[in-house]
Amino acid sequence: MTGTEIERLIQMLARLPGLGPRSGRRVALALLDKRESLLNPLISALENAERSVVVCGTCGNLDASDPCGLCVSSKRDDSKLCVVEDVASLWALERAGIYSGRYHVLGGVLSPLDGVGPEDLSISNLVSRAAKRFVSEVILALSATVEGQTTAHYVIDRLEESDVIITKLAHGVPMGGELDYLDDGTLGAALQARRPA
Ligand SMILES: [Zn+2]
Repeated sequence: MTGTEIERLIQMLARLPGLGPRSGRRVALALLDKRESLLNPLISALENAERSVVVCGTCGNLDASDPCGLCVSSKRDDSKLCVVEDVASLWALERAGIYSGRYHVLGGVLSPLDGVGPEDLSISNLVSRAAKRFVSEVILALSATVEGQTTAHYVIDRLEESDVIITKLAHGVPMGGELDYLDDGTLGAALQARRPA
């Protein structure tokens, strides 16, 4: 029905999060139908991203510079460190627009079933960062999933020696809720009403 080039394109698109074979076909057709307005700009955007986006060595965010814009910004509050599991959660908090401290991306959550242990996450780095004199509060903004909460307990244990207040997001994060799927208002309220962990 279609050539191998098109099949290959559909297969790659179908592997993207949120897509599947059916959406892959729709996207492939749209791209090939609108070369000037969609396909070519997408190729440029992909090439630029591949060339210039790096992982921030300090917080784990994605940006075109290392350290990232959030880590170097003089407008951010050095005394607060917000721990998130992934970059999607960091972006969700930034969209909510009510947090002005620094971030720390763990790079996942503890999950024995998937073989993810403490050494796979950026936890030692977090402990070092929390030990800095100017850090007074560590906010655990992890998903209300079993893995997220297990990870929160583990992080609290590891920070026991640190001289910081540890808080976590308040009610409003439904059980099983991933941060990226919360609306900005709910997430903002949960952060503002955070409580001791
Ligand atoms: Zn950073």
